[in-house]
Amino acid sequence: MKKTNLKTNNYRGRFAPSPTGELHFGSLLAAMASYTDAKKNNGLWLLRIDDIDQARVIDQSDLHILNTLEQCGFEWDESVTYQSQCLKHYQLALEQLEHSGLSYACSCSRKQIQAIIEKNHLPPSIYPGTCRNQSIIADNSATRIQVADTPIGFNDLIQGDCSSILSEDSGDFIILRRDKTFSYQLSVVVDDFRSQITHVVRGADLLNSTARQIYLQQQLAYPSPQYAHIPLAVSSDNLKLSKLSQAKKIRCDLKTLTLAADFLGQRPINHHDLESKADFWQYLLNVWDINRVPKMEKQMVLV
Ligand SMILES: [Zn+2]
Repeated sequence: MKKTNLKTNNYRGRFAPSPTGELHFGSLLAAMASYTDAKKNNGLWLLRIDDIDQARVIDQSDLHILNTLEQCGFEWDESVTYQSQCLKHYQLALEQLEHSGLSYACSCSRKQIQAIIEKNHLPPSIYPGTCRNQSIIADNSATRIQVADTPIGFNDLIQGDCSSILSEDSGDFIILRRDKTFSYQLSVVVDDFRSQITHVVRGADLLNSTARQIYLQQQLAYPSPQYAHIPLAVSSDNLKLSKLSQAKKIRCDLKTLTLAADFLGQRPINHHDLESKADFWQYLLNVWDINRVPKMEKQMVLV
């Protein structure tokens, strides 16, 4: 039996979709797993719209997502929050990091970083720290945070023990982008802290963001939530569903809901044996066991 060090009656979970399109099967899985785990533990389940990246936001898709969740039978606690309405809190966190002396301005373009990596035969996709000691003053600079070379470890309720050395896995990473928008990593960490989230159940595509988020939590003196990363649903040609342009809006019917529960490894049920969505949620709450959720991605052929 896996344990968390938090009292279950304090459980505060969340689902944080990006309003970049309709709710697809991959996000239904994250919603279902986070919701059911919260309710199984007598916790609260909050809904947040992750719209920090305004360039990717599709107008009205937040409303479509909320509507789809409602039709599926999800019930959220507290009012829905939007990242775009929390900018001042991200700014305060940014200033806190700046005061700690760990952040610095970086004026490198993607092309420049790539050129340095190639010239020096450095590992790909890791910022080589070019601007770390440069005291750059430029309008179009990004802000990075200096990382450490000590491992950051965490016990994921589904993936087990995980560990990352940020200096080898990401390098100093961006907290404020060149266009002066706050990075996803910073905003998520501030949001989870402000909402006092104790459990983050989400897709495994975010597993390699987790160490960076824990590092930011440490620098900001925030507690770290318990993490659980569910496997990704991929199509028959191994593409992540959310990345597919044809990732279809889900149908809120019993067949789709039971398919999702089955994907999450829960004791299967035939959807013909259920009379209503309320029946489905009662069944899932009864059988839910996070230890049954598989680690690995599974292929999903959707009809
Ligand atoms: Zn730089």
